Amino acid sequence: MKRLAFIGGTGVYDPGILSGIYSEFIETPFGTVPYEVGKFGTKEVIFMARHGVHHTIPPHKINYKANIYALKMLNVGSIVSTTAVGSLNPEYKPGELVLVDQFIDMTKSRDHTFFDGEFRGVAHVDMTHPYCEQMRSAVLKAGEEKNVKIHKSGTYICTEGPRYETPAEIKAFRLWGADVVGMTNVPECQLAREAEICYCTISMVTNFAAGMIDTPLTHHDVLDCMNKNIESFQKITAEICEIFDPEKDCSCHHAVKDFGGFHL
Ligand SMILES: [Zn+2]
Repeated sequence: MKRLAFIGGTGVYDPGILSGIYSEFIETPFGTVPYEVGKFGTKEVIFMARHGVHHTIPPHKINYKANIYALKMLNVGSIVSTTAVGSLNPEYKPGELVLVDQFIDMTKSRDHTFFDGEFRGVAHVDMTHPYCEQMRSAVLKAGEEKNVKIHKSGTYICTEGPRYETPAEIKAFRLWGADVVGMTNVPECQLAREAEICYCTISMVTNFAAGMIDTPLTHHDVLDCMNKNIESFQKITAEICEIFDPEKDCSCHHAVKDFGGFHL
């Protein structure tokens, strides 16, 4: 049976909604990955802390390939990821959620594909709809059910980090049409598609990006906003566990069929 997984940071889910939580490790060809399993009713749900169990891995050093491969090994068919982002769009305010539907890749040094010509040949995966449309609909429905406001679309620009952006960069990114900026969605999103797993991202705006407002950004501000709004994430998480069926077939599950499919 296919399972649902959440990739996120500390406190994104409320252990209160799950029972029988336990921690595990799994060995992949790319490294060892820790994760947690819990039960929501009769459904088994997996949680993975993107930055490591103790939040010690910076965005550019996350082992995205191992994480996604591990989820594939664990028979995960669908992933909901959560990210903290800066806003470039005056209408997307701190504390609000954005269900991004496009991304722009500005990363520099990441191991970003399973199809590197060595591990499993060459494939060019389609990215017309980078985030699973079926999952996006489920998240919007969960938001409506739980009365949590979610912006329905947005372009996520992924920077290399770990530094924040300069105001000149933000000005340029706005001209390109970016709405939010973060450091983790690429290559996570594309690796999930390559591994034929449905994937969507709920971004939480923690601040306005550099130069958007006069006050300079501190990491404390970001964490503070994140903590205040964990509740919205938790409500959505519980509702998605309730309504989403990871067994449901989706085009994402056949994303590389023209290249022989993705087999472990
Ligand atoms: Zn899908």
